[in-house]
Amino acid sequence: MIRLENVTKVYPNGVKALDDVSFEIEKGAFVFIVGSSGSGKSTLLKLLMKEINPTSGKLHIEEKDITKLRRSKIPKLRRSIGVVFQDFRLLEKMTIYNNVAFTLKVTEAPTRTIRRNVPMVLSLVGLSQKANMHPKQLSGGEQQRAALARAIVNNPPILLADEPTGNLDPKTSWEIMKLLLDINLRGTTVVVVTHDKEVVNSMKKRVITLREGRVVRDMQKGDYGYEN
Ligand code: ADP
Ligand code: ADP
Repeated sequence: MIRLENVTKVYPNGVKALDDVSFEIEKGAFVFIVGSSGSGKSTLLKLLMKEINPTSGKLHIEEKDITKLRRSKIPKLRRSIGVVFQDFRLLEKMTIYNNVAFTLKVTEAPTRTIRRNVPMVLSLVGLSQKANMHPKQLSGGEQQRAALARAIVNNPPILLADEPTGNLDPKTSWEIMKLLLDINLRGTTVVVVTHDKEVVNSMKKRVITLREGRVVRDMQKGDYGYEN
């Protein structure tokens, strides 16, 4: 599903953000990526979304080496990866319904698909009653639920979450983590970058730890494993 082979990323200023990183994430897995600030986590996510290219190495997503992907195929790759961020990134001027529908509209999905899928995912994340509200009228946890709905409405095989609970209190963080688990159980491969030690330690999922651009630890049923 996701396979990195000896991936190195050196930015133009000479910083080596990733240094010979290799690992594989199988289809349907739930994986945490942890590491202190500057360890290369964001660089890894940007590589997966093909926002940047590795300096060397191979990066396969669903059997395709995305470093060799034609420019015209990039939109299709991006559609196969749902993404959520720490700061939600909802469109403030749109209702929750339209924020979610937007993902489908940009791919020119038929109206009937939109009318069926948007209510379905809003129900999945528990936001059916808030469909006509605007992001600012929702709590942080609700906004993250909306962002999750938007990320999965077109059924991407992969969901990347970049510090999804970074702005949320512990109780709300748990609700979001439970949703990520639900989404994972429906078959989506979920990769979560996080600093949330409590969450990582209690979920007993695979944990890949980066330090200075290298994988220093990779454990099934792992824990947070370091102090920062
Ligand atoms: P993390 O997400 O774990 O904090 P990053 O991937 O953002 O780590 O950064 C890894 C290293 O690469 C850091 O030293 C950071 O300063 C550097 N870096 C990140 N982005 C850039 C960039 N666009 N240009 C140059 N250096 C960068
Ligand atoms: P790439 O060519 O790999 O896409 P760039 O080096 O062009 O990346 O940097 C992308 C952006 O990140 C630029 O606007 C740059 O100013 C900014 N940037 C530079 N250094 C860093 C850093 N240490 N951490 C985060 N961002 C950085």
